[in-house]
Amino acid sequence: MTSRKLLIVGAHSADFVWRAAGVAAKTVDNGGEVRIVALSYGERGESGELWKEPGQTEDNVKRIRHEEAEAAARAVGATFEGFDLGDYPLRETPEAVDRLADLIRDWQPNVVLTHPDKDPFNPDHPVAHRIVAQARLLTSGAVVEAGFKTAPPTEFLVFEPHQPELCGFVPSVFVDITSVFEKKATAMEAMKAQSYLREYYTQRAEHRGNHARKVTGNKAIRQAEAFQRLIPNVVEAL
Ligand SMILES: [Zn+2]
Repeated sequence: MTSRKLLIVGAHSADFVWRAAGVAAKTVDNGGEVRIVALSYGERGESGELWKEPGQTEDNVKRIRHEEAEAAARAVGATFEGFDLGDYPLRETPEAVDRLADLIRDWQPNVVLTHPDKDPFNPDHPVAHRIVAQARLLTSGAVVEAGFKTAPPTEFLVFEPHQPELCGFVPSVFVDITSVFEKKATAMEAMKAQSYLREYYTQRAEHRGNHARKVTGNKAIRQAEAFQRLIPNVVEAL
């Protein structure tokens, strides 16, 4: 297994934890590097538990969400950075696209992972997709000499949304996360503002593990995460 650089971009600071903490841990275990970017802290829309505190403020919610996401990223060996662009609504601004494009150009990840382009339950997730898709294209150009600084094209996949069918998500890749599931569990525990999702995503990982067993016949797979490739991957042979 070659070591890879994986960039995970979420609309909100906890999104990566439920959907891609396993693949993050796996990438690091294989000698790769993982960088997690949250476009916002999800301070307004995805921090319900924190807003139950009397006298709570937006700044304090953001501070807690930053600490939680850093702890979750640490649990899987990744780094976390928050762009703090605001949520509900997250806006697709030229500045947001440029900032992410600069990061991709400088760091040159092999793989970029984000939300699907459709989510009837969340206004910010499709916006995050558009920001990432734009930034990615602006850094690779047309893969010919360009009048601006480019980086090699990355693989581009989306992670599993909360209600996959309604987001048009059809998995094309399962990653076996059995060996790192304890790390994902630790990462999920760090997200105290959304503790109700822990059981849900533990079950989801087991369901996907079942599907991955069926595909491969490998009975050792217990948990998996599902992804959808948006661009074909190129291999030497089938
Ligand atoms: Zn979210």
